[in-house]
This record gives sequence, structure tokens and C-alpha cells, in this order.
Amino acid sequence: MVPGGHPCGCGLKGCWEQYASGSALVREAKRAAHERPVRAAGLLRLVGGDLENITGPDVTKIAEDGDDLGIELLTELGRWIGEGAASLSAALDPEMYVIGGGVVAAGDMILEPARTAYREHLPAAGHRTIAPIVAASMGNDAGIVGAAELARLDLDGNRIGAGDARA
Ligand SMILES: [Zn+2]
Repeated sequence: MVPGGHPCGCGLKGCWEQYASGSALVREAKRAAHERPVRAAGLLRLVGGDLENITGPDVTKIAEDGDDLGIELLTELGRWIGEGAASLSAALDPEMYVIGGGVVAAGDMILEPARTAYREHLPAAGHRTIAPIVAASMGNDAGIVGAAELARLDLDGNRIGAGDARA
């Protein structure tokens, strides 16, 4: 997404994940708290004055309470999601984007800026269907629920039922 951008765990730089994820949100919140402590007063108060304690849900909490910095951070994250989705649409044209992970707890505070940025960056926008961008119904639990569901399958992919000797 960003040539020469933030280093990523995969070894490259500027990957989408480094801009459109919960860890990106926390990184930017910590940076804001360090560089703009007056503007981050509400956030710093919530975490006992230590910016190392900042979590994604803290940012969502202050944004829900109307804090300008919190809203700004979620908007920025949402815009990255939307811009990336627009690039994906250029190649793949999916019918829908389902956004999961902890960040969707922020709901429309992230999804609305994502939808706006998506429409603004969609190539040949007049000739495409605008894919809806929605929150995953299981939010941050999707991964663990999926893992539990996998554990209920046998090696052939059949569900292990109550009447099954192996269950
Ligand atoms: Zn990467």
C-alpha cells in the first residue's frame, strides 16, 4: 500500500496490515499520545497516563464518548480499509467486504469512513457495483469460533456427532 512505509512482520514495508488493523490503530494512538499529549489528554487519562497501556478498545471507548482524537484515529483506520478495498475491487470485484477483528467493535465509526474512501478510490466507479462494506457478525470471535468448529470435524471433514463413538 505504501512504498517504503511501516515495516511489517512479513519482512516487507508498507503492507496494508500496517495501516488497516488493530495493531496499526494502537501504533498511531501511541504516536499521537507521544507527539500531541494535549490532544490525547482523554486517552492518556483513560490509561493512567502511560501511553504504553493504550489498547484498541481504549481508542474506541474515547471515540464513543466523542473524543476528537479517538474519532480521528478510527476515521483514519477506516479510510485505509476503504482505500485497500478499492484496490482489491480493481482486480477481483468481490460482491461484499466483510471486516472482522477487534476493530469492528467500533462499528460505523470505522465502517463509514471505509465506505467513503472506498467510493472515492474505486477505479472506474461509474461502471462497477459498489460492494457493501459490513462488519463480520462474530466480530473478533470469528477466529476462535472457526477453530472450535474445525475441532468438531473428523479428518474427512464430517461433523463428529453425539452418537459418534469418537465424540
Ligand atoms: Zn507484510
